Amino acid sequence: MLRFFIKVFVPGPFFEPLTYSTNAPISPGIRVKVPLGSREVIGLCAGKANRPEALDIVKSVISVIDDEPIVSMQHQALVDFASDYYLAPLGDLLLSSLPTTLRKGKPIPKPKTETGHNNSPAYQLTKDQHHAIEAVDQTANQFRCFLLQGVTGSGKTQVFSELIDRMIKRGQQILLLVPEIGLTGQMVSRIQDQLDGELCVSHSGIADSARTKAFIASARGVADVMIGTRSALFTPMPNLGLILVDEEHDGAYKNQEGCRYSARDLAIVRAKQMKIPIVLSSATPSLETWQQAELGKYQRIRLSARPGQQPQQTISLIDARYDKPKDGLSAAANRAIRHAIDHGQQALVFLNRRGYSPVLMCTDCGWIPACKHCDAKPTLHRQPDSLWCHHCDRRQRPISICPECSGRSLLAVGHGTERLEEALARGFPDVPIIRVDRDTTARRRAFEQLIQPVIDGQPCILVGTQILAKGHDFQKLSTVVVTDADQGLSGADFRSVEHFAQLLTQVAGRAGRHGATGKVLIQTHRPESEWFDKILRQDYDHLAKAIFRERLQFNWPPESHLALITARATSSTPVFEALEKVANQIRALNSPVRVLGPAPAPMERRNRQYHGQLLILGKRSLIQWVLKETGPWAYKKLGKVVFQLDVDPRDLW
Ligand code: ADP
Ligand code: ZN
Ligand code: ZN
Repeated sequence: MLRFFIKVFVPGPFFEPLTYSTNAPISPGIRVKVPLGSREVIGLCAGKANRPEALDIVKSVISVIDDEPIVSMQHQALVDFASDYYLAPLGDLLLSSLPTTLRKGKPIPKPKTETGHNNSPAYQLTKDQHHAIEAVDQTANQFRCFLLQGVTGSGKTQVFSELIDRMIKRGQQILLLVPEIGLTGQMVSRIQDQLDGELCVSHSGIADSARTKAFIASARGVADVMIGTRSALFTPMPNLGLILVDEEHDGAYKNQEGCRYSARDLAIVRAKQMKIPIVLSSATPSLETWQQAELGKYQRIRLSARPGQQPQQTISLIDARYDKPKDGLSAAANRAIRHAIDHGQQALVFLNRRGYSPVLMCTDCGWIPACKHCDAKPTLHRQPDSLWCHHCDRRQRPISICPECSGRSLLAVGHGTERLEEALARGFPDVPIIRVDRDTTARRRAFEQLIQPVIDGQPCILVGTQILAKGHDFQKLSTVVVTDADQGLSGADFRSVEHFAQLLTQVAGRAGRHGATGKVLIQTHRPESEWFDKILRQDYDHLAKAIFRERLQFNWPPESHLALITARATSSTPVFEALEKVANQIRALNSPVRVLGPAPAPMERRNRQYHGQLLILGKRSLIQWVLKETGPWAYKKLGKVVFQLDVDPRDLW
């Protein structure tokens, strides 16, 4: 019998496809079931292989799953790049870019899309919006990266909608990435409402079968538009003509499990490979993107004002040292919320801390419970009653008697969203209080259900974490209170100020998007901080310049690039020994990169393991070279020490 040889990408630590034999040729991009060690796995055919020398050890394909390829060469080129840049095994990446159903070898379902409605909005586009649309439209079929930088509420989403319309008329597909699951719902209904075509959606909040149908709809060219979160970047789209990345600065674009890729950065690579335009949009661009725009490498398009006569919101500080918050809220904040409610509007109270209270303390002896597995204090939750460590997820029953002194005076110190919700319910019994945080939105569709009354415009008070800060367009929301702004400025990371400024601007941007002027109050114990001064000017470029100058001084990104090597084990000595070895290896290469560390991670003991890290700082190409010389990094272990590599880390954790 004739034997054919094919290369197959399989999951696991393989940087090259493996060779298998078949009795008929198989096209690249077709899934096959193959033996791997003692297991059977699903792999992807990578094309013909040369006749191997050791013929007798070549195993044969068990079965062929598809009639036609499910991924294209185009798709493979993108994953190839990612594998090379993030030093991750190609097979792993390719297979994890598929919806679970397909990865498990299930048959291809029928594609499914939603049809758009084609209602134009009742308003005229502003001059700025026109300009933005023309600029992007003119570069169709060539690569260019745009930064659509406009204050919150300046009509960026409307620009997306128009661009999508034009692309569909050209017969091209559009990929729109959004950071959060919660945002897709609103974005989808807005886009769908004006869309003359077929749309599909992909994120972890929908069933995998639906995701698979969307994947296939995009891959077969049935869907005109794909809207999705980070992982949707890897959706094959044969006629892709435009990529849009909403809120490009958002940390959710960075994958924190497995291969730590940045979907935003890879989206730019994809646009370049396909020679199409890409638009990154944000009111508060990441410093990386901002710098590229300053250098003229990205084309900046500005939307400088909110459409119509809609003024920017006013932002003011409340000095919490004088107007002392009671139950988390100062008198001024309470008045502002009351004012909003009495005028039929809504208020948002922002606190980036879920649970009831961050610390439980014995007032007799000062004892504070600690997590057994982490260098962290568990958070007190009331719904349900528990002491919950947010770092390792360990939950224990709350304590009512102090184990140190047997006293019974245990006090909840400080506020989380649960406690604020309780306080607001007492202070404002006449309106519903809607708490939006990870705990109330864990269930599928919970977010949509929770915020429906807000969208419907009923008077209410929203209280919640950063889930609320992002891109939502709530028409009746006039007042925003940021209850604990000190938290954000005290971070140790070099990006703390940038992230804080972005978060604050985003939260503030929820206020007064329609009608009444928005009012934003920020409670702080340190109103004199120079950063507040810059944030209050509501001039992001001014702020970005100041942050940039600081980064330059210490040679932090975007001035340089970073890679973070983390090592972990059950005791700390081997972690440091292993990292020291790696550090010496890197230093021996005599490359002009800087190696910082080994040092303990910001939280050294986490989930029963000790974490240490090495930071490599320097030119991107040099870092890549150094990492390749000292790799492979995926699945790397030294004795019992497990390594993890993060190229362009967002958090130095
Ligand atoms: P962004 O995405 O920049 O936050 P949006 O696109 O959500 O801004 O626009 C903010 C609000 O302004 C939306 O309710 C939108 O319908 C409205 N809007 C957008 N463009 C215009 C326009 N040209 N004229 C009037 N209203 C507009
Ligand atoms: Zn005690
Ligand atoms: Zn813990």
